[in-house]
Amino acid sequence: MFTYLMKHLPANKYLAGISNVFIMLLPVSLISSFSLLASNGATLLNWTDVSYELNTISSLIAQLFPVLLVVFFSQYLASLHKQPVIAIITSSVLLYFIICFQWDLFHEGSLIPINFPFAIFIPIAVSFFYQYLQLLSIFRDTHLPNVVERSINLVISVCIVISILLGISYGTKFVILDALHLTLMMPRLDPMSLFDGIIYEFTRGVLWSIGVNGHVILASYKIELFRITSESLALIETGSGTIPILTSNFYDFYTGMGGSGNTLSLVICVLLFAKNKGYRTLAKAALLLSIFNINEPILYGLPIMFNPIMIIPFLLTPIVGLLIAYFATLWGVVPPIMGVISWMTPPIIGGYLGTDGAISGSILQCIIILIGIAIYYPFFMRMDKLSMGKTALDSLTERFFSSEKIDTTKAIGSYIPHLSINMAAQKTVEHLHKTGDFILYYQPQYDVDKQKVISLEALIRHCSYSGHITPPTFIDSFSELGLLPELDFWVLEKAIATANNYAHDPDFKISVNVSPETVLVPTFLTTVMQLIKRSSLRFEQLELEITEELLIKDEKETKKTLNKLRELGITIALDDFGSGYSSIAYLSRFDFDKVKIDRSLLLNIGTERGRKLFSLAVELGQITGANIVVEGAESKDEVDFIQSLGISCIQGFFFYKPMAIEAIIELGLVTLQDEQVA
Ligand code: C2E
Ligand code: MG
Ligand code: MG
Repeated sequence: MFTYLMKHLPANKYLAGISNVFIMLLPVSLISSFSLLASNGATLLNWTDVSYELNTISSLIAQLFPVLLVVFFSQYLASLHKQPVIAIITSSVLLYFIICFQWDLFHEGSLIPINFPFAIFIPIAVSFFYQYLQLLSIFRDTHLPNVVERSINLVISVCIVISILLGISYGTKFVILDALHLTLMMPRLDPMSLFDGIIYEFTRGVLWSIGVNGHVILASYKIELFRITSESLALIETGSGTIPILTSNFYDFYTGMGGSGNTLSLVICVLLFAKNKGYRTLAKAALLLSIFNINEPILYGLPIMFNPIMIIPFLLTPIVGLLIAYFATLWGVVPPIMGVISWMTPPIIGGYLGTDGAISGSILQCIIILIGIAIYYPFFMRMDKLSMGKTALDSLTERFFSSEKIDTTKAIGSYIPHLSINMAAQKTVEHLHKTGDFILYYQPQYDVDKQKVISLEALIRHCSYSGHITPPTFIDSFSELGLLPELDFWVLEKAIATANNYAHDPDFKISVNVSPETVLVPTFLTTVMQLIKRSSLRFEQLELEITEELLIKDEKETKKTLNKLRELGITIALDDFGSGYSSIAYLSRFDFDKVKIDRSLLLNIGTERGRKLFSLAVELGQITGANIVVEGAESKDEVDFIQSLGISCIQGFFFYKPMAIEAIIELGLVTLQDEQVA
C-alpha cells in the first residue's frame, strides 16, 4: 500500500508542483542556512555585531521562504490550469497574509507569517475557485487590448475569489476553533515520552518525503522540548532536578546527523559506493553542508522526496538512531545530552560537547552513523542501479533551471514548470518567440457547383521580423511542451475576432483546427461559447476541425464536449480522414457534420486501386450523412476526378492557397459590412 502510494504520488500534479517549487527555492534555504552557519562562526569568534546581522539576515530570508512558496506555487498552478498568473498570485499572497492573521498565526514580533500548510493550501484553493468562476463564466482573462480593462478584470476577479475564500476561512475557523474548541495544528505530543518521540521523528520524515518542511511544521514540539531542557538545566544549576533523556540536542545529535533522516550516513554511503558519477558529484558537493547538518541538496537533488525507494531508509534510520541512543543513555552507557548548543554542531564534536565532554558520546554517534550507512546501503544501491544513464545532477539542474525559459510576454507561451522538458522543443518555441510573431492564414474551401467559398480554414503561420513565413512545422514542439491548448485558444480568439468582421454574411463560415489536448481542457466549451457570444457570429458560423488522434485520448469526455458543441449549432468536421488507422471506427462512434478526405488518398488516384480506395473513403463518409470535403487538390485532373464522384466541396491549391486575410479581401472572397451597406 505504502509503496503503491509512493509510486503514484509523484504523478500527482499538485505534489509534483510542490516538490518542483521547493527545488526552485533551494537557493533561498541554502542562503538562509549559510548565513546561519556564518552567524554561528561569528559568535565563536566573538564578533557579536556580525553574528547578529547574519542571524537577522538568515531569519529574514527564512521568513520570506513561505511567501515565495505561495508565489511560485501559485504561478505553477496558474500554468497548470491555464489561468491568469497575476490574478492567482495576487489573490493567494493577499489571502495568505489575511488568513494567517485571521487564524492568529503570526509569530511574535514578526510581520510575516510562517505557515507552510497554508502556503500550500491557499494557492490550491484559489486556483480551484478561479476555475469554477471561469466555468460559470463570471469572468475570465480575456486578452483585452487595453491595460486598464485588464486591471479592472483583475480587480474584480481577485475580489470575488478573496471574498469567497475569506468567508470559508471565517466559517471554518468559527466551527473548528471557536465552536468546537479544537486547537489547530498537530496532535499534542509529550516531549518526554519515547513513543511520542518516535511519532515525532516519523511524522517529520513523512512530511519531508512529500516535500514539506517537517521541521518547521512540527516546530512547537521542538520549542516545548527546548523549554523543558532549559528549565531542567536551570534546576540542575541550583542543585536539584535531573536532565531528561530526550532533550532538544538529543534529536540533533542522534537523529539529525547531516540533517533530518541522519542523512550524513547516506552521503557517506553515496561517496563510498555509488557507481553513478552524478550521485558522487552531488554527494561531494553536499558533504560540507552535511557536516553542519544541512541536507536540502540531498533531499531535493538525489532526490529523497517522492522517491519510493529512498523514503523507507529515510524514515527508518533516525528511528533506529533514536532507539539506540535512548537505551544507551537509559542504561548509563553514555551520559545524557546536557548542553543546549547549536544544531549545526558537526557530528562527533556534537556528541562530545553535548555529553559534557564524554568520548562515549562521540563513539555512539559514530556507531549510529555506521548503522545508518548499513540501512541506507541496499536501498541506495537499488537506486544507483536504476539510474542508468540519467545522473542525479542532470535531473537536479534540469528541474532547477528549465522552468523559466518560455517567454510569458507574448500571446502564446507560458511558464510551465514541467519536471522534464524537452529542450529541443523548448529551443524551437523560444526561437519562434524571439524572432517573430504568430499570424493566421486562411484557406478557402470551395464549392465547385455553387461556385462560391463555403468556409475559410484558419491555419497558423510564423512570421519572422524579416517577413519570412513558416508553415506549422512547429506544432509538434508546442505539443511536447504541453502548450498546444494555449496555441489553439489563441488561434480561436484571433480567428473569431477576424471572422467577426464578416459575420453579417449569412453564408460566411470559419473553420478552426483543434488539437487533441484542447478539447479536454475543462474550460474549452465555455471559452468557445463566450468567444462566439461576444462576437456577432452565430454558432452555426463556426466549424471545429478535429483530428482522429484526438478521439483516442478520452473518448467519453471528448464525445460529451463535441455533442454539447453540436447542440449549440457549431459544426464538427473530422479532419484528415483516411490518413490514420481507425477512421472507420470513429465514423460509427461519433457524429460529424463534415468529413475531410486527406490529401494522401488523392496522391494515388493515378492507379485503379487508388481510385477505388478514394471513392470508398468518400462513400464511407457519406454513409454517416456527413458532408464531404476533399483536401489538397492541386491539378485539374484531381478536381475532375473528385467531381466525377459527385463531390463538389474542395480545399486545395488548385483553387486557393492559404493566404493572409488581406489577400482574401482583395480577391473579394469576403465582404466587409460597410461595403455591403454602400
Ligand atoms: P489540416 O488541418 O489538414 O490543414 C490543411 C493542410 O493542407 C494545410 O497545411 C494546407 O496548407 C495544406 N493544403 C491545402 N491544400 C493543399 C494542396 O493542394 N496541396 C498541398 N500539398 N497541401 C495543401 P498547413 O497549413 O501546413 O497545416 C498543416 C496542419 O497543421 C493542418 O492540417 C493542421 O492539422 C495543423 N494546423 C495548422 N494550423 C493549425 C492551428 O491553428 N491549430 C492546430 N491545432 N493545428 C493547425
Ligand atoms: Mg484542418
Ligand atoms: Mg487535413
